[in-house]
Amino acid sequence: MPTTMHPSRRRLINFIPFVVIGGGASGLAACLAAGRRGIPTLLIEKNDRLGRKILATGGGRCNIMNSGPPAYFGDSDFAYRALAACPAGRLNDYFSSIGLCLKEEGYGRMYPATGRADSVLEAFETAIESLPVTVETDKRLTALSPLSGGGFELTFQDGSQVLAKNVLLAGGGPASPQLGGCDDMAAIASSLGFIVTDRLPALCALETNRRPIRGLDGLRLPAKLTLLSNGKPVDCAQGEALFSKTGLSGVCAMQLAGRAAIGLENKEDMQVSLDFSVLLGVGDGRMERKEPKAPDINQKATLDKLQERRHHLGDKNVLVGAVPQKLAKKLATQTLPELARNLCDWRLNLTGVRGMRHAQVSQGGVKTDTIDPATMQTSISGLYMAGEMLNVDGDTGGHNLMFAFACGFLAGEHVK
Ligand SMILES: Cc1cc2nc3c(=O)[nH]c(=O)nc-3n(C[C@H](O)[C@H](O)[C@H](O)COP(=O)(O)OP(=O)(O)OC[C@H]3O[C@@H](n4cnc5c(N)ncnc54)[C@H](O)[C@@H]3O)c2cc1C
Repeated sequence: MPTTMHPSRRRLINFIPFVVIGGGASGLAACLAAGRRGIPTLLIEKNDRLGRKILATGGGRCNIMNSGPPAYFGDSDFAYRALAACPAGRLNDYFSSIGLCLKEEGYGRMYPATGRADSVLEAFETAIESLPVTVETDKRLTALSPLSGGGFELTFQDGSQVLAKNVLLAGGGPASPQLGGCDDMAAIASSLGFIVTDRLPALCALETNRRPIRGLDGLRLPAKLTLLSNGKPVDCAQGEALFSKTGLSGVCAMQLAGRAAIGLENKEDMQVSLDFSVLLGVGDGRMERKEPKAPDINQKATLDKLQERRHHLGDKNVLVGAVPQKLAKKLATQTLPELARNLCDWRLNLTGVRGMRHAQVSQGGVKTDTIDPATMQTSISGLYMAGEMLNVDGDTGGHNLMFAFACGFLAGEHVK
């Protein structure tokens, strides 16, 4: 199906009905939906294989979607409308139609029942094999030009060109370049006049000033983390925090990275407040995203607990059995009110977030106001866009893949 185009033969070459750029979650979903409708489709992927990012998701287990409430940032309304057009039930039907059974692992997080990301890729690859879908890997789109009479001319890095009636751009974003992440889609979209907002990393570790956390690396603790901008709480997440030599990671720290990156970019004074009061049985310690509140909310209850513990254990042992030794050592010389404050509102200055290489997703991308969320059709007839290349990013828990798959299915169902 792919054709090398020579200008003199241009009019003789048939337009390919549907060309999909990017063999990730969105692109594969689009090929499945369009292929099932009998639409001849050419899938182009710049890596040497499809779905490299899918294989790395969920620590190799692929948290494929989330059956709970949607959680999106950026053009979040667009995401909600796309997911209203292709909700969890329909996504599940698509997955089971290619042999993928899913299981829930709490908080709506859905995984393949095999517990393996490669089952997801294998299911898609097998399904599209029997459809009119041609796959070309090691091929990179470098330019896309709408033609005056309709359709598009696509130019690839190797100098070859094809003509297409419809095109889906599904090339993802710049997060994790080692897996194929890049910003080609943003460059192509802006060359066509679409507005692209700044790309920043999200869902990655936080970097803090190092001296206060020295000696704590490797320590894993349940905590509530509040992100502060110029002293005001702007985001909050609860779960397991992991200290590293350079800062904090773990799901709750990663959840704050998107807003932290924006604040740092805007030169806001960013801090993170750690609340470990759950170690003393204060608060519920549930792993969830929370409305940001004043970070010292548990201080009075924590002080009461510490006083009670002192009564039973004495001054020297007040933290024994509740706080790991590494942390207890840091806090050893403090009075009870100081301890209560530090266990509820221990502030660290943020110096950065780990860069794109360590980010699971990028925020920013093509503004969606000229894209139909029910079909992914853009303001240019025959041009569709889907997935992480758009100005939408989701929370952890399967929301990013869910959005990417939903967009892809919608584009494949509606391409004409
Ligand atoms: C380590 C890691 C773990 C993650 N875990 C999860 C998880 O468990 N759950 C979850 O929901 N999300 C997770 N994510 C995020 C999720 O993987 C992405 O949001 C999702 O894959 C985006 O899908 P996409 O189809 O838009 O882009 P991608 O999956 O990135 O696919 C885009 C494809 O297009 C190709 N491409 C780019 N430019 C061109 C070009 N010019 N020509 C040809 N091909 C091109 C790329 O090589 C790539 O293969 C994780 C991400 C990472 C990095």
